[in-house]
Amino acid sequence: MTNQEAVRKAADYFAKLAEGQIERVEALKSEGAFVDYSLIDPLIIGVIGGDGIGPMISDAARQVVEELLSDEIASGKVKFRSIEGLTIENRAQHMQSIPDDVLEQIKSCHVTLKGPTTTPETGGEWPNLESANVGMRKALDLFANVRPVRVPSEGIDWTFFRENTEGLYVLGSQGFELTDDISIDFRVISTPGSDRIIRAAFDHARRTGKERVTVVTKANIVKSGDGRFLRVAERVSRDYPDISWDGWYIDIMTAKLLDKSRRSDFQVFVLPNLYGDILTDEAAEIQGGVGTAGSANIGKRYAMFEAVHGSAPRMVTEGRAQYADPSSVLKAAGLMLSHIGYSSLGQKVDMALDVCGQYERRVRVTGRDSGATGTEFGQYVLETVRDPQLEERWKNYVAAL
Ligand code: NAD
Repeated sequence: MTNQEAVRKAADYFAKLAEGQIERVEALKSEGAFVDYSLIDPLIIGVIGGDGIGPMISDAARQVVEELLSDEIASGKVKFRSIEGLTIENRAQHMQSIPDDVLEQIKSCHVTLKGPTTTPETGGEWPNLESANVGMRKALDLFANVRPVRVPSEGIDWTFFRENTEGLYVLGSQGFELTDDISIDFRVISTPGSDRIIRAAFDHARRTGKERVTVVTKANIVKSGDGRFLRVAERVSRDYPDISWDGWYIDIMTAKLLDKSRRSDFQVFVLPNLYGDILTDEAAEIQGGVGTAGSANIGKRYAMFEAVHGSAPRMVTEGRAQYADPSSVLKAAGLMLSHIGYSSLGQKVDMALDVCGQYERRVRVTGRDSGATGTEFGQYVLETVRDPQLEERWKNYVAAL
């Protein structure tokens, strides 16, 4: 192919992508309001095991949630549904990032608690499918990836709002090889896509009594997309005069999260997709490792809750899967409980995780046989959640800070 032919082919290819994006963003403009979970009966919670360490850690979280919702389960108000088939083997067999029948099962649930799923990479052992997570975020329009990170002993109480359906991920698997020497990928940022995530961050700040929202971009360099994100933030902020906001660049932000003299000043962050992905892993590491961090993927109709980390294949091949820390999915389970209207139960999970993971630490997970198994730690959390003295134990923890 000559260079001229390559350019023509690229122009045709780009035209199709552009049409798809215009269609997607037009649909965003007419989306409805958030679902009201109090009106749903029965509320169906799907549990997806996923790959690698996923089934074990999601099972530990399911046990805790089932215990906390035992009255609602007994009365039929809440139902659990196991969703099989979101495994790399099944996805490869169907050559789909989410096989149709699995997506149908997921859509039959109002919310899902999900174990991590393996994403194939170019040249690896699996066909190069799109990430199941990215697929799910797109299919269910889960636009807000909400990731809380708390380190009470250091005054850190951050909530990240990562845009989840645009940026580099929306067309991440649709880049193309222009010539033998050039690969081109695409990044998309739209006004409605930015507006809804920025508004979600400001609403959260207002609801939780926070005073500051920090918008993270690289708008000095990525002038088009990040420039738009920042302009939308400036406009949206005018609807929240009670909340201050500031803009930071992603590079210095990664440094500031490590700056002990400044980092506890930050409260709520909102940022485009890839920056959010990276910064939240860094934040999770500050909290005690990715194994301790959970996240919510929220859309107007559906929501999915999961760990921030992946399926940890190295732990599996080294025979250490049973030592994986379930705290991440437990944290996600707490977020799920709060999201569906059981905030006090969500708080219980958070308190139990603080007591078990940060304070008493009678059972410790190290990721290796030097520590407890994930099931043992899950049992410890379960017993702590059941304990009528939980609040007392948690207050002791706070007093000891
Ligand atoms: P990873 O997050 O799976 O694991 C990296 C390392 O972190 C592990 O080797 C382990 O040492 C540690 N770790 C992770 N979770 C832990 C836990 N619960 N307890 C103790 N230690 C834990 O990262 P990776 O190896 O880059 O990714 C593996 C696969 O997961 C890839 O295919 C990736 O695409 C996928 N992934 C999926 C999701 C998701 O489903 N949400 C997120 C990230 C990565």
